[in-house]
Amino acid sequence: MVSEVSTSARGHVLIVGAGVVGLASARDALARGWQVTLLDPDFESARASSFNAGGIGISEVLPLAVSPFSLKAIGWLLDPLGPLAVRWTALPRMLPWALALARMQDRDRYLAAARALAALMSTVYDDLVPMLQDLGLAGHLHRDGALTVFETEKGFRDEQPEWALRRELGVAWREVPADELAAMEPGLARVFHRAIMADDWGTVEDPRSIVQALGRQVRERGARFIQGRAAGLFIDPQGRPGARDADGRRWTADRLVVAAGAWSDRLAASLGDRVLLTAERGYTVTLPQSRALLNREVIFAERKFVASPLGPGLRVGGTAEFAAADAPANPARHRALLRLAQKFFPSAQVDDPVLWMGARPTTPDSLPVIGASLRNPRVLYAFGHGHVGLTLGATTARHVGRLLDDEAGAAGDLAAFSLQRFST
Ligand SMILES: Cc1cc2nc3c(=O)[nH]c(=O)nc-3n(C[C@H](O)[C@H](O)[C@H](O)COP(=O)(O)OP(=O)(O)OC[C@H]3O[C@@H](n4cnc5c(N)ncnc54)[C@H](O)[C@@H]3O)c2cc1C
Repeated sequence: MVSEVSTSARGHVLIVGAGVVGLASARDALARGWQVTLLDPDFESARASSFNAGGIGISEVLPLAVSPFSLKAIGWLLDPLGPLAVRWTALPRMLPWALALARMQDRDRYLAAARALAALMSTVYDDLVPMLQDLGLAGHLHRDGALTVFETEKGFRDEQPEWALRRELGVAWREVPADELAAMEPGLARVFHRAIMADDWGTVEDPRSIVQALGRQVRERGARFIQGRAAGLFIDPQGRPGARDADGRRWTADRLVVAAGAWSDRLAASLGDRVLLTAERGYTVTLPQSRALLNREVIFAERKFVASPLGPGLRVGGTAEFAAADAPANPARHRALLRLAQKFFPSAQVDDPVLWMGARPTTPDSLPVIGASLRNPRVLYAFGHGHVGLTLGATTARHVGRLLDDEAGAAGDLAAFSLQRFST
């Protein structure tokens, strides 16, 4: 069966994946006059876009810096409840990705990625605020900043080069003395010697509300929703791109956008495009009765986890677990996060936690892929946002719209995010 999306002035775009990136891209494409169809196996799924930590992390402009072969990484791996875990079954598939991550130790490569990420981040609020206003969710953005807190002087000192580089890249931050920290966040245990405040950081009320509102809005504006899992992409004899599922259903359109999060690399591979992407799984526990314990997001520097005060409760999240995106969650990881919540929020109510695990789509250079397929210019990619997909959803959508319209200069502006980097 071949389904055609009905015609419109600009043409038809099929978007594979309806997380925040796919849905925001659908919204932008509709505004530009494209007819949109979204394909997703489950529009209400527990996708990363809906249950993440809710941070608008605009100071997250530095790529992952840890070599997978360093003593630090090995130490984390040896700790069964440390911030890093690898399921050995995932290793063979991960190896090229890990080798590319190790190459990020090269200073020039690292700085180039940091500059590209900082440039992309620089328009986050310009893109996000109008989108939230248009969704009727303007009040869902809290620009209260984020505190990075340090238990040890060494932890603070070790991070100073990174904070200096962030400042060079335009991120504003200031040191907060321990007594000011205690006044700002009285619900936090008094164990932190140092803290850094990034004032521009924001937190949303609930990422799920944004995904749901985007879904409602694009449906109302005419997007068609098809429930199905793309098993591969193809180019038909007329040169039109399409997706097929495992049952042989096929959908074609004038343009195709792959926004399938951590599942996107297989789809790109089916067209012959090489991508280095991995599922970096993260865990959260949400404590519905404990939101009031925090006034803004807090990042716990040494233990690599975060806590955010969200509508659904105090959400504590973290862990970088490299495993198949759909493999079952490890309950010990949730227990470890709960223990951290109890340790650092002495009055937290941990009796009724809501547990979640999801997959960050992570590239080795921490840059998303935003650009055309190297095999066919009618296929666009928009995935690989790692830790900052909520932050960059609206920005990525604007760039996808520019690429759909073949806007002059768009591909050049986005060169750092092209697939080309995986082929050189
Ligand atoms: C613990 C944790 C905390 C996080 N905290 C933050 C944060 O504070 N701030 C931030 O900015 N980011 C955060 N992130 C990252 C953020 O959640 C992701 O980067 C973002 O959700 C990625 O969005 P996406 O739309 O690309 O993918 P997803 O949300 O994963 O959506 C992908 C969609 O594609 C669909 N799909 C998959 N395969 C197929 C297929 N074959 N065919 C059709 N559809 C398919 C899926 O069903 C899904 O709906 C966090 C992530 C985790 C795990």
